[in-house]
Amino acid sequence: MRGIRARVLRICDMTVDTDALVRPDGPGSGGAKTVIPCWAMLIEHPEGLVLFDTGERTCEDGSSGRERLVEQLALCGVSPEHVRLVILSHLHHDHAGNLDLFPDADVVVQRRELEVAQAEVAAGTPGSIYRREEISGAVRWRVIDGEREILPGIRLIPAPGHTEGLQAMLLDLERPMLVTSDACYTARNFGPPARLPGLYRDASETLRSVERLRGIAGRSGAFVMFGHDSEQFSRMRLAPVPYE
Ligand SMILES: [Zn+2]
Repeated sequence: MRGIRARVLRICDMTVDTDALVRPDGPGSGGAKTVIPCWAMLIEHPEGLVLFDTGERTCEDGSSGRERLVEQLALCGVSPEHVRLVILSHLHHDHAGNLDLFPDADVVVQRRELEVAQAEVAAGTPGSIYRREEISGAVRWRVIDGEREILPGIRLIPAPGHTEGLQAMLLDLERPMLVTSDACYTARNFGPPARLPGLYRDASETLRSVERLRGIAGRSGAFVMFGHDSEQFSRMRLAPVPYE
């Protein structure tokens, strides 16, 4: 759709076990680590500014992801209060931090994702990747169920598995862009064949979601942007240079 531009905002790097990205068939990589990107995406839409994911609050080197997000928005000539709509792929802390920067924006999330995250935070579930400070503030939640064109040219597509309520996004750019978030960490998970990551809630659902996204990419001719693919990210255009 004419008039949509997307800019990738680099927030920080994260160090993870290599085997956490793609579950090994055999003995694994023996504790090898991989550095992966944490990012958000600013979308200029004729109906207003949209932010897809909000990045990490505090980066692993102790620096402020919040300051980094504000800097990256400023690179695009945008202040947080200009953002009208926030879309969260899911509520893990590296995707849903810094929400307090956007008290006046509607925050779009799948109902199932919010329910599970709030239940885990309330119960203090051990090992949970959801953090109270990300989801317990005065957020203007706009809860949706299932696939939705949230604005013309911005389609949200449930892709559960990594979390119960994860959603991907299909952007109607000159070449469509399918943003998988953590439904697919890397090109290796995308396949074919689809490969499980090291972390998921439901294995068969995770693989089904990848197959579904691959089908959508095939039919739409979309460029597929993965959630944490450092090799792909090194080749991406970064803000302020847009995809349009
Ligand atoms: Zn995640």
